[in-house]
Amino acid sequence: MNSRGRTGTVKAALKRTAIDLLYPRRCMICHGPAPWGEYICPECEPELPVIESRRCRKCGKPVEDFEALCPDCEKNPHQYDRGIGIYRYDSVMREAVSYLKYKGRREYGEAMGIYAAESARSELMTWNPEIIVPIPIHPARLRERGYNQAEVIARAVSEESGIRMAPDALQRKDTTSAMKNLSVRERYSNLSKVLVAGPGLSGIRSALIVDDIYTTGATVDAGARVLRDAGISRIYFLSVCIGGGFMVSY
Ligand SMILES: [Zn+2]
Ligand SMILES: [Zn+2]
Repeated sequence: MNSRGRTGTVKAALKRTAIDLLYPRRCMICHGPAPWGEYICPECEPELPVIESRRCRKCGKPVEDFEALCPDCEKNPHQYDRGIGIYRYDSVMREAVSYLKYKGRREYGEAMGIYAAESARSELMTWNPEIIVPIPIHPARLRERGYNQAEVIARAVSEESGIRMAPDALQRKDTTSAMKNLSVRERYSNLSKVLVAGPGLSGIRSALIVDDIYTTGATVDAGARVLRDAGISRIYFLSVCIGGGFMVSY
């Protein structure tokens, strides 16, 4: 338990305890067994690269003291209203995310979701979104990986915050067009074409998009545009990591 405390429901806590008995969790930083009931070793927790500096008032990226918006948000009118990422995408988080995505360490996603929800508790209370929407991954990745890492994170955020999970609100069409060689702008327009709104969104006014990494915002923007077209007027995002540069991550 860290100093920020936890708000998870009793049901969620019991479920986690049952899972602990069956599969002892590993710490996402040292990859050793995590202490009983914990997600990260107490010695490893200080290594989490929490962003403590001033943040861009739109996307939450770290900014210089005199800036209200980061250079990205100065240039791009984003499709979402506001968002926040919790950790810098440094070598520690890069490794943790890669274990989550490529080495089957699903529990790292749970840990990330719990920590992200705790860290963004005041934002979540202010924004008060009705549903939590994970960014879907490519169907081929899903088949190969067995889970969508953003959905694992989003479920933990949902259990921790009590906000309803809407796992199918955004869906990804099965396209095989390689996006590797496309520019950021081309990827963005491509992504807008592959994401579609799922059923059950009528009457929903606000949503929180959840993803593992926010870089340029292209992915979140594509999702936000689809949700806005489906009638949702207030759209926020919560990402575990926030990176700089122009690398779009899937
Ligand atoms: Zn550790
Ligand atoms: Zn920004």
